[in-house]
Amino acid sequence: METTSQFKALDERYYMPAFSREIAIVKGEGSKVWDADGKEYIDCVAGIAVCSTGHCHPAVVKAICDQAHQLIHCSNLYYVPHQGEIAKKLVEVTGMHKAFFSNSGAEATDGALKLARVRTGKKKFVAFTHGFHGRTVGSLAVTHKPAIREPFEPLGMVKTFVEYGDVEGLKKVVDNDTAGIIVEPIQGEAGVIIPPDSFLEGIREVCDKTGAVMIVDEVQTGMGRTGKWLAMQHTKVQPDIVTLAKGIASGFPMGALVAREGLEFKKSEHGSTFAGGPLACAAALATTGVIEKILPDVSRKGERFARGLMKYHPRVRGLMIGITVGDKCPDIQKKCAEQGILVNCAADGNLRLVPPLTITDAEIDRVVRVIDGALGPVML
Ligand SMILES: *Cc1c(COP(=O)(O)O)cnc(C)c1O
Repeated sequence: METTSQFKALDERYYMPAFSREIAIVKGEGSKVWDADGKEYIDCVAGIAVCSTGHCHPAVVKAICDQAHQLIHCSNLYYVPHQGEIAKKLVEVTGMHKAFFSNSGAEATDGALKLARVRTGKKKFVAFTHGFHGRTVGSLAVTHKPAIREPFEPLGMVKTFVEYGDVEGLKKVVDNDTAGIIVEPIQGEAGVIIPPDSFLEGIREVCDKTGAVMIVDEVQTGMGRTGKWLAMQHTKVQPDIVTLAKGIASGFPMGALVAREGLEFKKSEHGSTFAGGPLACAAALATTGVIEKILPDVSRKGERFARGLMKYHPRVRGLMIGITVGDKCPDIQKKCAEQGILVNCAADGNLRLVPPLTITDAEIDRVVRVIDGALGPVML
């Protein structure tokens, strides 16, 4: 097997340098991963909130392998094995009406924007500062961060950004020509920013008043991450469209949108060669089965993190944890990795932890000790 330096040599010569990275992960089991040189880590990145059932959960591995032996791909020209079953499951756990699949979070955003446009006949969107919705041309248009969006403007979408949390500002820009408002219920890439419930309630009211579609991006917060299937389920607000991806299939690429009654694509309005294929649907179905069992424990585990890291004022909702660290964040990330803990820095110097939902109490305690050791000298 290759060593880390062999990975590095090939990467530097042949792969476009869009990422900065130093570790080569070659194996995973539960909350643990191993690098190419045999070093063990507890993984609080989990593929960026993707490997929610832990790495290589036996039920997920079995579902993918069994399906691979039967049929890997067939096209949406035909009924697809497991597609209806996972659609039913997602509709049930989200309280929505119908589902549609994609291959990623960005494509789920694109689908939601298209659905809002085609059913309202309107063109304008409103999104929020520091929001992240993906990097395709459509989803990037409603992603705020100027550094990643502006080099590619004009992106073919009429949109306005409003300060995250500012309902009054929102009221000023939404009108009868607004197709939709897209929002993360907790901002993930921005560093785990949790708004007051009144913000999401305010968006709902504005949508009800103007006919704009309320699109809630739960790509990162969904599928049990915050202790409920959706972060929105911590509030009383029912969105019109919810997008999902990251944690949906334990690392098999998949995205989805689920929408309320009356909001659906009609013949030929949307589609995809790969989306909702047999392997993805089998992986997602196995994943939801595992999440169902571990979901009751997620909030308690989050509280264990919150107690352990209290002196650093963490923002915690289930197993989505952010700590404002500042400029030193990359140093902290590196120090934790040296001590066998993977964490990462989201925007603006915010340390982010999104471990597998299966993480054990003993693993949480070990992570807390290492982070405390790394943060203490810098922040206290
Ligand atoms: C990661 C993310 C996306 C984009 O998902 P991809 O699968 O990378 O395209 C969209 N929205 C949110 C909130 C995300 O965290």
